[in-house]
Amino acid sequence: MTGIVYKSTGSWYLVKAEDGTFYECRIKGKFRMEGIKSTNPIAVGDVVDFEVETNNDATTGVISVIHDRKNYIIRKSVNLSKQTQIIASNIDQVFLLITIDNPPTFTSFIDRFLVTAEAYSITTVLVFNKIDSYQLEQRAEVLYLKDIYKKIGYQCIEVSATENTNVTAVKELMLGKTSMFVGHSGVGKSTLVNAIEPALDLKTKEISDQHKQGKHTTTFAEMFDLSFEAKIIDTPGITGFGVVDMEKEEVDDYFPEFFAVKNDCKFNNCLHVEEPKCAVKMAVENEEISPSRYRSYLQIIAGEEEHYRTDIWE
Ligand code: GDP
Ligand code: ZN
Repeated sequence: MTGIVYKSTGSWYLVKAEDGTFYECRIKGKFRMEGIKSTNPIAVGDVVDFEVETNNDATTGVISVIHDRKNYIIRKSVNLSKQTQIIASNIDQVFLLITIDNPPTFTSFIDRFLVTAEAYSITTVLVFNKIDSYQLEQRAEVLYLKDIYKKIGYQCIEVSATENTNVTAVKELMLGKTSMFVGHSGVGKSTLVNAIEPALDLKTKEISDQHKQGKHTTTFAEMFDLSFEAKIIDTPGITGFGVVDMEKEEVDDYFPEFFAVKNDCKFNNCLHVEEPKCAVKMAVENEEISPSRYRSYLQIIAGEEEHYRTDIWE
């Protein structure tokens, strides 16, 4: 049978078969993925083949094959083992929630997130939340940011989760897709998801509170079917995707507006820093590329490890 993994506990996987039946499955033998030393080979979102087994009235499944993943997100373990955990796969889109205040979301965070999402081939929609609470100055900031990111090709949407503004538009974007909601703690992820599907009680909140107490919580993602034709993957405690082993030279591939002009740089290995006749720097000077995007790029290629780490955990 073929199904989709909805939940993983590390040793058991809840798989929904094509006919809608859920099976508790385990894996047989060892799964290896090229280049990834993973503590759990199967992730929420995986499409798997499994065989049904019945013993003592209990029907369970044994997973034998993982279908190729369209994409996946991984988390590097913070301990010394340097192992990675595949958190979720086959994600159609991520809604990145952004607030100007309470809490502030800085462009450096947005850009680091977008770079990783690009590298993982995941579409990102920028959701500016709490627009009901903004004064003139914050409104202007939203418009300014929307202008920057729309020009690059990212879809932007203004919402108020508490006032139910544009929530229907978010639901429309979710139709027929598997979505994730990410962003700093306090930006309104739980509130928005609640407005989208009141019956759904995601764990995002409770886990991040535990984090504040410094506890180590294992993260297990979970997929949910919504009452309309949409799926959500909940990833408790995860606010972004860590940048994993990205080479300096490839960062510009994940800034779409840099990628669009970099062929015009004099040197084909141009890092767009000190090099002469650099098309990217020229575009920054001509205001075709936003200075904040360029600043984020420089920060990323400078490779401050701690930036990467704060991406993943609050
Ligand atoms: P999460 O940590 O991202 O899940 O954030 P929550 O959903 O818990 O929201 C954090 C706080 O922001 C709560 O007090 C919410 O009531 C508030 N909040 C969420 N969305 C909005 C909004 O659209 N407007 C306003 N004014 N407050 C909001
Ligand atoms: Zn250049």
